[in-house]
Parts: sequence; C-alpha cells; structure tokens
Amino acid sequence: MNQESLFANETQRTVVLLRCVYLVLIVYYAIFFVLMTVYSQTEEGIFRISWIAIVSICATVWLLCLSYRQRIRRNLILFIAMEIIWLIGFIAVFGWSCGAQQIMFVLMVLVYFSFYDALPQKAIFTVGLFLLRFILFVFSQKYGAYAELHGRLLIILQVWSSLSFFTLMGIICGFFSSNIETADKNLVLYNQMLREQASTDPLTGIWNRRRMRTYLADNIRQYPQMPFSLGMGDIDLFKRINDTYGHDCGDAVLKWLTDLLQNTMDGKGRICRWGGEEFLLYFPEMNGDEATKVLIDFLLKLGRTPFRWKEEEIHISMTFGVGEYDFHSELDALIKQADEKLYIGKNKGRNQVVF
Ligand code: GH3
Ligand code: MG
Ligand code: MG
Repeated sequence: MNQESLFANETQRTVVLLRCVYLVLIVYYAIFFVLMTVYSQTEEGIFRISWIAIVSICATVWLLCLSYRQRIRRNLILFIAMEIIWLIGFIAVFGWSCGAQQIMFVLMVLVYFSFYDALPQKAIFTVGLFLLRFILFVFSQKYGAYAELHGRLLIILQVWSSLSFFTLMGIICGFFSSNIETADKNLVLYNQMLREQASTDPLTGIWNRRRMRTYLADNIRQYPQMPFSLGMGDIDLFKRINDTYGHDCGDAVLKWLTDLLQNTMDGKGRICRWGGEEFLLYFPEMNGDEATKVLIDFLLKLGRTPFRWKEEEIHISMTFGVGEYDFHSELDALIKQADEKLYIGKNKGRNQVVF
C-alpha cells in the first residue's frame, strides 16, 4: 500500500490515496454483489446481472495492481474511464434510484485535486460530468431500467451507496486538506529558513552585513530619538595568523572572537560580521564614551585570554573605531565615521579603541 511510486515527480501520498479509494470501492462492489445474491430469490432478474459487480471488482483489483507499475496520471484516467462505464451500466441496469451517480462527485474532487492541469480543463471535465448525469437521468426516466430496484433492496443499496461515497469523499477531502495544511506549514518553515540563511553568516552564525544594515535602518526609522553608538572592529594582523597557523585556525579564531564579543554585549546590543575579519557592534542607548568603555574592557579581557590552537597559545588583538549617532546623520555616514576611526587606530599601532 505504502510502496513508493516508481516515477519521479509523483507524490507518493497521492498514489496511496488512490489505492485507498480502490480498496473502498472493492468492498463497495463486494457488498453490492452479496446483496444482489441474497435478494436474487425474491427480485427477478437481479442475479443474472450480478456479474457486473464481479467485473467491477476485477477491474478495480487490476487498477490497484497497475498503480504499482503505472504513472498515477494514467492510472487515474483509466479509473475515471472505468467508473464512467460502470456508472452508465449501473444506471441502465438498475435505474436512477440505485444511487450510483453519486460517484461523480468523488471523480470530480479527485480530478480537481490530483491533476496539475489548468482550471479550464477541469471545468470542461465538470461540464462533461454534468451533461452525462443529465443524459443518464433523462434516459433512465424515459426508458426505465433492466431490473429496476425497489423495496428493501433499494433502501439497503441506497444506504450502502451513500455510506460508501461519503466515506470516499471523507478520505479524499481529509487527505487533501491535511496535504494543504502540511504544505502551508512547510512553506512557512522554508521561508523562515531562507530568511535566516539570507541574514546569517555561515561561519560564525551571527548576522551578516545585510541583516545588520536593515536592522539599524529600521531602528532609526522607528526610534529616531534613541541614542546609540556603533563600533567597527577589525582583527589585528589576521593575515599573519592565517599564514602561520593555516586558514582553519583563522576560521576558529573568528568563531572564538564571535563568542567573546557576544559575551561582552551580554544580550544588550547586536553584533554582525561586517566583512572578512571585521565586526560591527551596535550599542543601543549608549553614547560614544560608554561604548568605548565596553570595548576597552573587551580588549583588556582579550589581552588576558590567549586563543588556544593545538598546543599553541595565540595572542589576538583587535582595533575598534566608534561612531556616535547624532540624531540626524545618515546610517552610512555613521558607519563610515566608525570605519575611519578604526583606521586611525590601525595607523596608531592597533589594539586600541578610537572615538
Ligand atoms: P590589519 O591589522 O591591518 O587588519 O592586518 P590584517 O592582516 O588583519 O589585514 P588584511 O586585510 O591584510 O588581512 C585580512 C585577512 O583576513 C585576509 C583574509 O585572508 C583573511 N580572512 C578574511 N575572511 C576570512 C575567513 O573567513 N577565514 C579566514 N581564515 N581568514 C579570512
Ligand atoms: Mg585585520
Ligand atoms: Mg580588514
């Protein structure tokens, strides 16, 4: 039942649904046959045409087997064709009152949800079904049936048909509604994942430049009167670390520094990887002096904490430039200001904060 479809681009769940439909129909035809056999003594002519149910069972079992080897689309088209032939036969033999015409709604729902065809094609199918229903009705009213059902058999068959078709509709609608729900949920999760990927630096896991810029621009727009400062930090002589200990070591330093910086911010601000070995730090509700103090403390801590790589201890230092928001400058101007201060610090010998 749960065996995968053999073909690419086919949803396994739709194949499983189709097989469930076949199983329900096999039970439906089987009970139909039993009822006709039981009532064959009292209802004239009934037994003679009970082979219709047997043929239907065989055809449905055949379709079920084919569903393991055939494309769903082809299988479904065969099924629809078979059901239409069966429907015409049943109405001709047992008349309109046998209730078999309800299968049309099942076919309609299946076509609408299982086929990826354009809506006009589905609409044409609907119109076709409607016309068939209309013709069958007129035909059955005009010519009657070969073995018109009546009495208790009619009631039992009506109830049985309704029960079977309601079950089928329930299975199909339940299946597709849960499918839509799952697809919706997956889409939301996928979007979230994409958004996170687009805003996160893959090496350090912190925000990238783009995300930080959007965040800062939004913050300035929302809280134009809120003071804040920015710190642009760059690892000193990082190229030498890469050259001496290898690129892996450089990467490990970047991750290690990210953790240290995050601890320093203590959840009060934001940090991002601005570029290769540059970090931008956002200090909300802090003026330049306060941000400078936080960064000097960080540099003192960094000076006391060597990075361990294999058996070695590597002393890392950074240089920072600080820019203070003056409530009217553009964000880019503020970032540029912090960047210029950073380069002043580099020229003055590194391992310092310049405000
Ligand atoms: P300065 O003190 O003037 O900043 O010197 P520096 O060596 O840090 O500056 P430079 O710009 O010459 O070198 C930066 C180096 O950072 C070069 C580049 O290979 C390295 N780098 C950039 N991104 C990464 C990364 O993701 N991983 C590693 N391992 N290295 C990186
Ligand atoms: Mg550097
Ligand atoms: Mg640099």
